[in-house]
Amino acid sequence: MDIFYGSTRGSQERVPASKAILQGLAKDGGLFVPDRLPVFDRTMEAFAGMNYQEIAYEVMKLLLTDFTEEELKSCIGKAYDAKFDTPSIAPVKKVGGSYYLELFHGKTIAFKDMALSILPHLMTTAAKKNHVENEIVILTATSGDTGKAALEGFADVEGTRILVFYPKNGVSAIQERQMVTQQGKNTRVVGIYGNFDDAQTGVKQLFADEELAAWMRERGYQFSSANSINIGRLVPQIVYYVYAYAQLLREHAITSGEEINVVVPTGNFGNILAAYYAKNMGLPLRKLICASNDNKVLYDFFATGVYDKNRDFVLTTSPSMDILVSSNLERLVYRIAGEDAQKTASLMQSLGQEGKYAITGKMEKQLSDFYGNYATQEECAAKIRSLYESFGYVTDTHTAVAAAVYDKYRQETADQTKTVIVSTASPFKFTKSVMAAIDEKYRDKEDFALVDELEKIGKVQVPAAVAQLRTAPVVHDIQCGRGEMKEAVKAFLLS
Ligand SMILES: *Cc1c(COP(=O)(O)O)cnc(C)c1O
Repeated sequence: MDIFYGSTRGSQERVPASKAILQGLAKDGGLFVPDRLPVFDRTMEAFAGMNYQEIAYEVMKLLLTDFTEEELKSCIGKAYDAKFDTPSIAPVKKVGGSYYLELFHGKTIAFKDMALSILPHLMTTAAKKNHVENEIVILTATSGDTGKAALEGFADVEGTRILVFYPKNGVSAIQERQMVTQQGKNTRVVGIYGNFDDAQTGVKQLFADEELAAWMRERGYQFSSANSINIGRLVPQIVYYVYAYAQLLREHAITSGEEINVVVPTGNFGNILAAYYAKNMGLPLRKLICASNDNKVLYDFFATGVYDKNRDFVLTTSPSMDILVSSNLERLVYRIAGEDAQKTASLMQSLGQEGKYAITGKMEKQLSDFYGNYATQEECAAKIRSLYESFGYVTDTHTAVAAAVYDKYRQETADQTKTVIVSTASPFKFTKSVMAAIDEKYRDKEDFALVDELEKIGKVQVPAAVAQLRTAPVVHDIQCGRGEMKEAVKAFLLS
């Protein structure tokens, strides 16, 4: 049966998946959600016999129902290929008593590659299906990781162009180098003299700018969005939870139907929401453990039923989780409100106006699938050190937050259920924090200087993504003021 996508706030008509992917955000500011969650039509044993690409098809066909088999398989084939440094795409490693699902084997060595490798292909296929003749222009503001993953995903994809704005002095040296060395005829990277909020606000204004939209239409262009609220990013993330389960089953680490826990280092709530969808589609998951860093809005939400972003923003060693408004949580709120769009809209209005909202007791009762906790920067560093010292396994800071939260969960509950810790970035992406956690003597060294040292002690090869950066030529050297972003867009499209 076909699945349609409506808004969490209710006032947009339902559309098929391809239209929801092209549109990104619903017209009323809500998020697109499927009108029901289908159930897997393959057994777990059947999944255990499949590779990543096959599972991707079996999962995505259930939710992207207006794509043909041929279209989906073509998108999957182009996304999950030799770009990944292992044919397994997302290997599971046993370390100590837990399993680490490594989602960092793609081009930019962070988990955003899992979805951003396929989104461009879903989008161009969706454009064809809907007879969109314009070239699709992706505009993204980034605080570091998303921009690079989107650039890699869209680079040289026919029918698209991508422009990324980043805060000129607000990203790490490695992150900036990753972006300004980006190849691809259809890419552009511009540094903004301002902070991430300036870049983000500027991009939102450009999306809403009618004069710019008309100017673009005349020249055969239209905007679309690659950010994490697009269902074209959410659906591909369900796949690796099924794949992780299938691997454990294949290796006889679990028996068929045995429930497992997952621990997810969380920021925007996209990754863990995919796990929740997977569970609702029939994957035997017990607890969804939501791990936060010092920006523990979600921990407080699960503990009290109140979401409150009125607090200081803490810059931590796990920057991709430094978030006070977790956009994808709106989809969970909608579901526990009994798919009541009016209720969801009023809670989100309260978030917009007062920076907080409280869910009802009835809604709170439906959060029993989740457990929330957080780890401080010191706890995160201690976990990196102990994993290294006990097992020789080096994790990045985000994964270490998850591992530290899992320790707290086990202490509190004594739950012995087998558990998968979702590993969202390679330690090579956050070399400085990782090495300083392992040994004080590395504290004053710079990122690039520590890469070889990490290779030695971690016994893992420097990923190509990092090795290339040392010699890659800078191809984007453009900066602009906060007020000049529109001109930057026009200049790019006229080039
Ligand atoms: C984006 C990101 C996260 C957070 O994922 P969400 O889907 O936003 O919750 C965690 N770790 C890393 C390394 C990331 O890049």
